[in-house]
Amino acid sequence: MRLLLRRCFAVAAVLLILAIAVVALITWRWQTRPLLAELPIPYADSGDSGDANGEQVTVTWLGISTLLFDDGETQILTDATFSRPKLHDLLLFQPLESDYATINRALDEFHIDRLAAIIPLHSHFDHVMDAGHVANRTDAMVLGSGSTSNVARGSRVPVDQYQTLKTGEPRFFGDFTVTLLESRHVPQLPNGNPIFSGVITKPLVQPAPVSAWHSDFTYTVLIEHPTGKAIVQGSAGFVADQLNGVTADAVFLSIAGLATQGKAYAEEYWREIVLTTGARRVYPIHFDDFTFPLGEVALFPAIVDDIVVTAGWINEFAAAPDEKIEVGLPVFGKPLRPFSSLPPQEVR
Ligand SMILES: [Zn+2]
Repeated sequence: MRLLLRRCFAVAAVLLILAIAVVALITWRWQTRPLLAELPIPYADSGDSGDANGEQVTVTWLGISTLLFDDGETQILTDATFSRPKLHDLLLFQPLESDYATINRALDEFHIDRLAAIIPLHSHFDHVMDAGHVANRTDAMVLGSGSTSNVARGSRVPVDQYQTLKTGEPRFFGDFTVTLLESRHVPQLPNGNPIFSGVITKPLVQPAPVSAWHSDFTYTVLIEHPTGKAIVQGSAGFVADQLNGVTADAVFLSIAGLATQGKAYAEEYWREIVLTTGARRVYPIHFDDFTFPLGEVALFPAIVDDIVVTAGWINEFAAAPDEKIEVGLPVFGKPLRPFSSLPPQEVR
């Protein structure tokens, strides 16, 4: 019995040392990353051109896939993620908690004071973690999957301030119309599923480990306004032909994970989301390392995602003969006018 105990202890000790070594190795390799300046994509033009009508809507990128749409009267926020957990807390499945000081600072600094809706693009931590807390600080509705509703419940959002939406059902906020369309997460596991896939079946109370934020539904969000239409794609996946018949002027395109899928997959993704909708303007999003403090934009380390390679592909797709699609990298916190001086649209 004593021998057995000793062996169990030895095996546990070896496993612990291995785990520490893996975490140390990843943390060390995480320091190596290309610079933003190495991306072959220019920063987006703010679109401040004197086109009074199209300039009415501004979109401000606030890291990952958090985008603030604002027409001067109504604000819509995708994701609403401002907290930035530490890498070792993610790797070691330590309990994570929303960073209230950072959320308050972001709401204040970016004048998020007319917020009507929060739309998490799926329910992984980097998309939904702060949605409930932002809802509690504002009057905004949280709209999304049943899992997202459970994140809101866990944050004690009042019941009339969150709603599980069906895809294809438009919702109206001021002059904005918001519609969730079925999409898919970028494949992360050998079986094509994302990590932590599944349903959040009960209210998600923080603090909780990263693995608590399961994701089931992933959405393409169509945001329409009298001055233009935008698509927000929060993960680099797609359902074939799902966007047939949908048109958009601008696409905010998640590129996280594309490099791991290969160029043929990336081209298919580009065709399904950008070419099908006839968008003439593309803003890559979700290229930034979410373990950096809010506002400090750094690319993902090449060890997990080679964004420089992905950016090269995107440039090539956009410059294909007859396409002439403008691609521009958003600058953190700087409003863009995606519908100003739009070139003509060609839907195919
Ligand atoms: Zn995800």
